[in-house]
Amino acid sequence: VATIVCFNAHPDDEALLTGGTIAKLAAEGHRVVLVVATDGIMSTAESVGQNTSRLAELRASARVLGAARVAHLGYADSGHGAVLYPDPPDRQRFARADAGEASARLAAILREEDADVLLSYDKHGGYGHRDHIKVHQVGALAADITGIRVLEATRPREQIVRIVVLLRMVRLVLRYDVGTAREDFTPRAQLTHRLNVRRYARQKRAALSAHRSQRWPASPGRAGRMFWLLTRVPVPIFGLLLGTEWFAEPGSVPGTRFRDDVLS
Ligand SMILES: [Zn+2]
Repeated sequence: VATIVCFNAHPDDEALLTGGTIAKLAAEGHRVVLVVATDGIMSTAESVGQNTSRLAELRASARVLGAARVAHLGYADSGHGAVLYPDPPDRQRFARADAGEASARLAAILREEDADVLLSYDKHGGYGHRDHIKVHQVGALAADITGIRVLEATRPREQIVRIVVLLRMVRLVLRYDVGTAREDFTPRAQLTHRLNVRRYARQKRAALSAHRSQRWPASPGRAGRMFWLLTRVPVPIFGLLLGTEWFAEPGSVPGTRFRDDVLS
């Protein structure tokens, strides 16, 4: 039995990026610990009530996926817009956090759990959210300090570019252009692990659903509607869309075939 620590930026990232991998590992009897850098709260005014609700949603998602523990590193969401807002009164935005301090907090959990593998993000932070880039930096540092093996969750860049081109043809995705997509995520040739997690599509979809505040009707914008739609598509179609999860292991030379287990 292994212990896997899955490090994410915001509540809901664990479901979208690695939900199937978490469910698979838990189903195989391994201990999965979810660490989230931020509580996913942007504003200062409503932070008290909302704060508990997004972390509560994360705990609900963890239960669906079979993760054993949820830990919050104590930071606030930095947002994805042009402006990095001032810190809330009681905590720092993750983008401003001292990387040494944040990685020491993560390393303490890795040691306490005697973790075998850390799941983090690629250096582009996937699509480039500043908190996701920070997860990569902090995860890499914590792996360095502890000597624990790290795998970076991502997707093949070429696939993302194709999807963005397609969505732009139907005039969706306005804040993300093809030029940006060409520099995000990780080129397919650098990926080392590809997991087929279609068997866990139902759990992954239910974990996404647990993040009620992020989807319509609680979140009425375009993103909230897309999120809602995703939780409504039939499980087999959901599995086709999101039933493959990808990782790159830094320092490991990609072989001719992808490995299909994060423990191998
Ligand atoms: Zn995120």
